[in-house]
Amino acid sequence: MKNYFGAIEAGGTKFVCAVVADDYQIVRQARIATTTPKDTLTQVLPFFRAGTETLMALGVSTFGPVDLDPASALYGFITETPKLAWRRADLLGPLRELGVPLAIDTDVNGAALGEYVAGAAQGLDTFVYYTIGTGIGGGGMVGGQLLHGLTHPEMGHMKIHHDHSRDPFAGACPSHGDCFEGLASGPAIEQRWGKKADELDSEHPAWDLEAHYIAQALCNTIYVLSPKRFILGGGVMQQDFLFPRIRQEVKKLISGYIQHRVLDSELDSFIIPPQLGSNAGIIGSAALAQRTAK
Ligand code: ADP
Ligand code: ZN
Repeated sequence: MKNYFGAIEAGGTKFVCAVVADDYQIVRQARIATTTPKDTLTQVLPFFRAGTETLMALGVSTFGPVDLDPASALYGFITETPKLAWRRADLLGPLRELGVPLAIDTDVNGAALGEYVAGAAQGLDTFVYYTIGTGIGGGGMVGGQLLHGLTHPEMGHMKIHHDHSRDPFAGACPSHGDCFEGLASGPAIEQRWGKKADELDSEHPAWDLEAHYIAQALCNTIYVLSPKRFILGGGVMQQDFLFPRIRQEVKKLISGYIQHRVLDSELDSFIIPPQLGSNAGIIGSAALAQRTAK
Protein backbone atom coordinates (compact mmCIF):
# COMPACT_ATOMS: atom_id res chain seq x y z
CA MET A 1 0.00 0.00 0.00
CA LYS A 2 1.17 3.49 -0.80
CA ASN A 3 1.88 6.17 1.79
CA TYR A 4 0.81 9.73 1.10
CA PHE A 5 2.41 13.02 2.01
CA GLY A 6 1.15 16.58 1.92
CA ALA A 7 3.35 19.05 0.06
CA ILE A 8 3.25 22.83 -0.14
CA GLU A 9 5.44 25.02 -2.30
CA ALA A 10 4.86 28.49 -0.89
CA GLY A 11 5.79 31.17 -3.41
CA GLY A 12 5.39 34.91 -3.63
CA THR A 13 2.57 34.69 -6.17
CA LYS A 14 1.05 31.27 -5.48
CA PHE A 15 0.96 28.36 -3.06
CA VAL A 16 1.05 25.01 -4.84
CA CYS A 17 -0.50 22.34 -2.63
CA ALA A 18 -0.31 18.66 -3.47
CA VAL A 19 -0.81 15.17 -2.18
CA VAL A 20 2.15 13.06 -3.25
CA ALA A 21 2.57 9.29 -3.00
CA ASP A 22 5.77 7.70 -1.72
CA ASP A 23 6.84 6.94 -5.31
CA TYR A 24 6.73 10.74 -5.84
CA GLN A 25 3.68 10.62 -8.11
CA ILE A 26 1.49 13.67 -7.62
CA VAL A 27 -2.00 12.42 -6.76
CA ARG A 28 -3.76 15.77 -6.79
CA GLN A 29 -2.78 19.41 -6.61
CA ALA A 30 -4.16 22.93 -6.44
CA ARG A 31 -2.86 26.46 -6.85
CA ILE A 32 -3.89 29.10 -4.35
CA ALA A 33 -3.04 32.76 -4.82
CA THR A 34 -0.63 34.27 -2.29
CA THR A 35 -2.62 37.15 -0.82
CA THR A 36 -2.64 37.62 2.95
CA PRO A 37 -1.46 34.83 5.26
CA LYS A 38 -4.97 34.41 6.70
CA ASP A 39 -6.72 34.26 3.32
CA THR A 40 -4.18 31.97 1.74
CA LEU A 41 -3.82 29.55 4.65
CA THR A 42 -7.58 29.23 5.17
CA GLN A 43 -7.77 27.93 1.59
CA VAL A 44 -4.81 25.60 2.06
CA LEU A 45 -6.32 23.66 4.99
CA PRO A 46 -9.48 22.46 3.18
CA PHE A 47 -7.37 21.18 0.29
CA PHE A 48 -5.60 18.76 2.60
CA ARG A 49 -8.76 17.86 4.53
CA ALA A 50 -10.57 16.90 1.34
CA GLY A 51 -9.66 13.62 -0.32
CA THR A 52 -9.43 10.13 1.03
CA GLU A 53 -5.67 9.81 1.49
CA THR A 54 -4.37 9.66 5.04
CA LEU A 55 -1.36 11.96 5.18
CA MET A 56 1.73 10.72 7.00
CA ALA A 57 3.22 14.22 7.25
CA LEU A 58 3.26 17.59 5.51
CA GLY A 59 6.31 19.30 4.04
CA VAL A 60 6.57 22.98 3.19
CA SER A 61 9.14 24.66 0.94
CA THR A 62 8.80 28.39 1.20
CA PHE A 63 9.99 31.75 0.02
CA GLY A 64 11.92 33.55 2.70
CA PRO A 65 13.57 34.68 4.70
CA VAL A 66 12.09 32.09 7.05
CA ASP A 67 13.00 31.06 10.59
CA LEU A 68 14.06 27.40 10.45
CA ASP A 69 15.42 27.08 13.99
CA PRO A 70 13.13 24.66 15.88
CA ALA A 71 14.28 26.24 19.15
CA SER A 72 13.19 29.72 18.09
CA ALA A 73 9.90 31.35 19.15
CA LEU A 74 9.45 32.30 15.51
CA TYR A 75 10.09 28.81 14.07
CA GLY A 76 8.15 28.47 10.83
CA PHE A 77 7.53 32.21 10.56
CA ILE A 78 8.39 34.27 7.50
CA THR A 79 10.74 36.97 8.82
CA GLU A 80 11.91 40.17 7.12
CA THR A 81 10.30 39.89 3.70
CA PRO A 82 9.53 42.96 1.58
CA LYS A 83 6.07 41.39 1.14
CA LEU A 84 4.60 43.38 4.00
CA ALA A 85 1.54 41.20 4.63
CA TRP A 86 3.87 38.25 5.26
CA ARG A 87 6.41 39.98 7.47
CA ARG A 88 6.55 37.98 10.72
CA ALA A 89 3.68 35.81 9.48
CA ASP A 90 3.24 32.40 11.06
CA LEU A 91 3.27 29.99 8.12
CA LEU A 92 3.58 26.71 10.01
CA GLY A 93 1.26 27.49 12.95
CA PRO A 94 -2.11 27.25 11.16
CA LEU A 95 -0.99 24.02 9.47
CA ARG A 96 -0.68 22.31 12.88
CA GLU A 97 -4.48 21.96 12.78
CA LEU A 98 -3.98 19.12 10.33
CA GLY A 99 -2.53 17.05 13.17
CA VAL A 100 0.35 15.54 11.19
CA PRO A 101 4.12 15.99 11.58
CA LEU A 102 5.32 19.11 9.77
CA ALA A 103 8.62 19.90 8.06
CA ILE A 104 9.74 23.18 6.58
CA ASP A 105 12.68 24.41 4.52
CA THR A 106 13.49 27.09 1.97
CA ASP A 107 12.05 26.88 -1.54
CA VAL A 108 15.49 26.23 -2.97
CA ASN A 109 16.44 23.53 -0.47
CA GLY A 110 13.05 21.98 -1.22
CA ALA A 111 13.65 22.02 -4.96
CA ALA A 112 17.16 20.68 -4.40
CA LEU A 113 15.79 17.81 -2.31
CA GLY A 114 13.24 17.05 -5.04
CA GLU A 115 16.01 16.77 -7.60
CA TYR A 116 17.99 14.63 -5.15
CA VAL A 117 15.25 12.08 -4.54
CA ALA A 118 13.80 11.91 -8.05
CA GLY A 119 15.67 14.14 -10.49
CA ALA A 120 19.01 15.47 -11.65
CA ALA A 121 20.89 15.16 -8.36
CA GLN A 122 20.20 11.51 -7.65
CA GLY A 123 23.29 9.83 -6.24
CA LEU A 124 25.10 13.11 -5.53
CA ASP A 125 25.90 14.20 -1.99
CA THR A 126 27.18 17.71 -2.75
CA PHE A 127 25.39 19.91 -5.27
CA VAL A 128 23.71 23.30 -5.55
CA TYR A 129 20.34 24.32 -6.92
CA TYR A 130 19.84 27.94 -7.99
CA THR A 131 16.59 29.51 -9.04
CA ILE A 132 16.87 32.60 -11.22
CA GLY A 133 13.46 34.22 -11.42
CA THR A 134 11.78 37.13 -9.66
CA GLY A 135 14.49 36.68 -7.08
CA ILE A 136 17.60 34.53 -6.98
CA GLY A 137 18.04 31.82 -4.37
CA GLY A 138 20.40 28.94 -3.87
CA GLY A 139 20.15 25.76 -1.82
CA GLY A 140 21.44 22.26 -1.94
CA MET A 141 23.42 19.67 -0.08
CA VAL A 142 26.90 19.24 1.26
CA GLY A 143 27.87 15.73 2.29
CA GLY A 144 24.27 14.56 2.00
CA GLN A 145 22.89 17.24 4.36
CA LEU A 146 20.66 20.05 3.17
CA LEU A 147 22.43 23.37 3.67
CA HIS A 148 21.54 25.05 6.96
CA GLY A 149 23.56 27.13 9.35
CA LEU A 150 22.99 30.18 11.45
CA THR A 151 19.84 30.64 9.37
CA HIS A 152 19.78 29.49 5.77
CA PRO A 153 22.08 30.41 2.91
CA GLU A 154 21.24 33.52 0.88
CA MET A 155 23.34 32.78 -2.17
CA GLY A 156 21.31 35.16 -4.32
CA HIS A 157 22.71 38.09 -2.38
CA MET A 158 26.39 37.35 -2.81
CA LYS A 159 28.46 40.20 -4.14
CA ILE A 160 29.73 39.71 -7.66
CA HIS A 161 31.97 41.94 -9.73
CA HIS A 162 30.02 44.73 -11.37
CA ASP A 163 31.86 46.51 -14.15
CA HIS A 164 30.00 49.84 -14.29
CA SER A 165 31.46 50.75 -17.66
CA ARG A 166 30.05 47.59 -19.23
CA ASP A 167 26.84 47.74 -17.19
CA PRO A 168 25.85 51.14 -15.74
CA PHE A 169 22.61 49.72 -14.26
CA ALA A 170 22.70 50.35 -10.49
CA GLY A 171 21.04 47.06 -9.55
CA ALA A 172 17.57 46.10 -8.37
CA CYS A 173 18.05 44.58 -4.91
CA PRO A 174 16.25 46.73 -2.32
CA SER A 175 18.88 45.82 0.29
CA HIS A 176 22.15 45.73 -1.64
CA GLY A 177 21.62 47.27 -5.06
CA ASP A 178 24.06 45.34 -7.22
CA CYS A 179 24.31 41.96 -5.52
CA PHE A 180 23.84 38.84 -7.70
CA GLU A 181 20.04 39.09 -7.50
CA GLY A 182 20.18 42.84 -8.01
CA LEU A 183 22.09 42.34 -11.27
CA ALA A 184 20.73 39.10 -12.69
CA SER A 185 17.11 38.48 -11.56
CA GLY A 186 14.24 38.71 -14.06
CA PRO A 187 13.22 42.17 -12.76
CA ALA A 188 16.87 43.35 -12.99
CA ILE A 189 16.95 42.34 -16.68
CA GLU A 190 13.66 44.09 -17.30
CA GLN A 191 14.69 47.31 -15.53
CA ARG A 192 18.08 47.43 -17.22
CA TRP A 193 16.83 46.90 -20.77
CA GLY A 194 13.29 48.28 -20.50
CA LYS A 195 11.81 45.04 -21.83
CA LYS A 196 10.67 41.83 -20.22
CA ALA A 197 13.32 39.09 -20.19
CA ASP A 198 11.19 36.76 -22.30
CA GLU A 199 10.93 39.42 -25.02
CA LEU A 200 14.69 39.80 -25.55
CA ASP A 201 15.99 37.71 -28.44
CA SER A 202 18.94 35.39 -28.01
CA GLU A 203 21.39 37.78 -29.68
CA HIS A 204 20.53 40.69 -27.38
CA PRO A 205 23.55 41.82 -25.30
CA ALA A 206 21.45 41.16 -22.18
CA TRP A 207 22.26 37.47 -22.40
CA ASP A 208 26.06 37.55 -22.52
CA LEU A 209 25.95 39.87 -19.52
CA GLU A 210 23.49 37.53 -17.77
CA ALA A 211 25.69 34.50 -18.47
CA HIS A 212 28.68 36.44 -17.14
CA TYR A 213 26.92 37.27 -13.86
CA ILE A 214 25.55 33.78 -13.36
CA ALA A 215 28.97 32.28 -14.14
CA GLN A 216 30.60 34.52 -11.53
CA ALA A 217 28.15 33.32 -8.90
CA LEU A 218 28.74 29.70 -9.88
CA CYS A 219 32.51 30.19 -9.66
CA ASN A 220 32.18 31.71 -6.19
CA THR A 221 30.05 28.73 -5.20
CA ILE A 222 32.61 26.33 -6.68
CA TYR A 223 35.36 27.94 -4.63
CA VAL A 224 33.34 27.75 -1.40
CA LEU A 225 31.43 24.44 -1.60
CA SER A 226 32.98 22.48 -4.48
CA PRO A 227 29.61 21.14 -5.69
CA LYS A 228 29.52 18.14 -8.01
CA ARG A 229 26.70 19.64 -10.04
CA PHE A 230 24.67 22.83 -10.49
CA ILE A 231 20.98 22.70 -11.28
CA LEU A 232 19.69 26.03 -12.59
CA GLY A 233 15.93 26.62 -12.57
CA GLY A 234 13.53 29.57 -12.51
CA GLY A 235 11.88 31.64 -15.20
CA VAL A 236 15.03 33.27 -16.61
CA MET A 237 16.61 29.85 -17.22
CA GLN A 238 13.77 29.05 -19.62
CA GLN A 239 16.14 30.70 -22.09
CA ASP A 240 18.02 27.49 -22.62
CA PHE A 241 20.69 29.04 -24.84
CA LEU A 242 22.02 30.47 -21.56
CA PHE A 243 23.33 27.06 -20.50
CA PRO A 244 26.17 26.75 -23.05
CA ARG A 245 27.10 30.39 -22.51
CA ILE A 246 27.26 29.96 -18.73
CA ARG A 247 29.36 26.77 -19.07
CA GLN A 248 31.81 28.51 -21.37
CA GLU A 249 32.06 31.53 -19.08
CA VAL A 250 32.59 29.38 -15.96
CA LYS A 251 35.45 27.62 -17.71
CA LYS A 252 36.93 30.96 -18.74
CA LEU A 253 36.64 32.50 -15.26
CA ILE A 254 38.16 29.49 -13.48
CA SER A 255 41.16 29.95 -15.78
CA GLY A 256 42.41 26.43 -15.24
CA TYR A 257 42.92 27.01 -11.51
CA ILE A 258 40.83 23.98 -10.50
CA GLN A 259 41.96 20.92 -12.38
CA HIS A 260 39.18 18.40 -12.74
CA ARG A 261 37.89 16.49 -15.72
CA VAL A 262 34.32 17.73 -15.00
CA LEU A 263 35.41 21.35 -15.34
CA ASP A 264 37.52 20.51 -18.33
CA SER A 265 35.30 18.32 -20.50
CA GLU A 266 32.05 17.45 -18.69
CA LEU A 267 30.48 20.86 -18.22
CA ASP A 268 27.41 19.71 -20.15
CA SER A 269 26.47 17.47 -17.21
CA PHE A 270 27.86 19.84 -14.55
CA ILE A 271 25.55 22.83 -15.18
CA ILE A 272 22.11 21.59 -16.10
CA PRO A 273 18.38 22.40 -15.90
CA PRO A 274 16.12 20.73 -13.31
CA GLN A 275 15.01 17.28 -14.40
CA LEU A 276 11.71 17.68 -12.56
CA GLY A 277 11.05 21.08 -14.12
CA SER A 278 8.48 23.05 -12.15
CA ASN A 279 7.62 19.99 -10.02
CA ALA A 280 10.97 20.01 -8.21
CA GLY A 281 9.63 22.10 -5.33
CA ILE A 282 6.50 20.08 -4.73
CA ILE A 283 8.33 16.73 -4.94
CA GLY A 284 10.95 18.13 -2.59
CA SER A 285 8.27 19.25 -0.14
CA ALA A 286 6.87 15.72 -0.17
CA ALA A 287 10.39 14.39 0.46
CA LEU A 288 10.75 16.77 3.43
CA ALA A 289 7.50 15.32 4.78
CA GLN A 290 8.73 11.79 4.16
CA ARG A 291 11.93 12.48 6.10
CA THR A 292 10.05 13.86 9.09
CA ALA A 293 7.56 10.95 9.14
CA LYS A 294 10.34 8.37 9.45
P1 ADP B 1 9.09 33.26 -9.32
O1 ADP B 1 10.55 33.55 -9.18
O2 ADP B 1 8.24 34.47 -9.12
O3 ADP B 1 8.64 32.07 -8.55
P2 ADP B 1 9.74 32.51 -12.04
O4 ADP B 1 10.82 31.59 -11.64
O5 ADP B 1 8.87 32.11 -13.18
O6 ADP B 1 8.78 32.86 -10.84
O7 ADP B 1 10.44 33.89 -12.39
C1 ADP B 1 9.74 34.95 -12.92
C2 ADP B 1 10.76 35.87 -13.59
O8 ADP B 1 11.38 35.15 -14.64
C3 ADP B 1 10.18 37.13 -14.18
O9 ADP B 1 11.02 38.22 -13.85
C4 ADP B 1 10.21 36.90 -15.70
O10 ADP B 1 10.56 38.05 -16.39
C5 ADP B 1 11.27 35.85 -15.87
N1 ADP B 1 10.85 34.91 -16.90
C6 ADP B 1 9.75 34.13 -16.91
N2 ADP B 1 9.68 33.39 -18.04
C7 ADP B 1 10.78 33.72 -18.76
C8 ADP B 1 11.31 33.32 -20.03
N3 ADP B 1 10.67 32.44 -20.80
N4 ADP B 1 12.46 33.87 -20.41
C9 ADP B 1 13.13 34.76 -19.66
N5 ADP B 1 12.68 35.19 -18.48
C10 ADP B 1 11.52 34.69 -18.03
ZN1 ZN C 1 20.72 41.62 -2.40
